[in-house]
Amino acid sequence: MNDSGGFELVPLTDEQVEKQRQALLEKRERVLQAVRAAEQNQDPDELRVADEMDLSSVGYDQAFEFRLRDRDATLLKKIDKALRRIESNEYNFCEECEGVIGSARLSARPEANLCIDCKEKQEHTEKMYEKRRQRMTSFEM
Ligand SMILES: [Zn+2]
Repeated sequence: MNDSGGFELVPLTDEQVEKQRQALLEKRERVLQAVRAAEQNQDPDELRVADEMDLSSVGYDQAFEFRLRDRDATLLKKIDKALRRIESNEYNFCEECEGVIGSARLSARPEANLCIDCKEKQEHTEKMYEKRRQRMTSFEM
């Protein structure tokens, strides 16, 4: 019966959501390690401070975030948001249209917070802004 529709989106089961939570926590750890490794190469003093902070408190994450490169910081924010969405049982649902995001998309991108339709719309809008920015820059030149 179900395979006639084809495009019906299936929410994750509780068990699958728990797996996603583990995947997100691992991903978060990997990003933090990569950032730490990068800092180690750049500035040993910074790293020593970071290590002390690591042991000391929960506030460490926030302090650490200050030094993250933008891309990593953005990814970490997305991961944290996804973890909060799991806590509040919103994980399966799109933030924009509240539709089901779908197990396939969430499995591929555990930090996704939009369904594919809303994501494509968002990317489209971003591209338009970018084009406009580029046009404006070329006018200035
Ligand atoms: Zn949506």
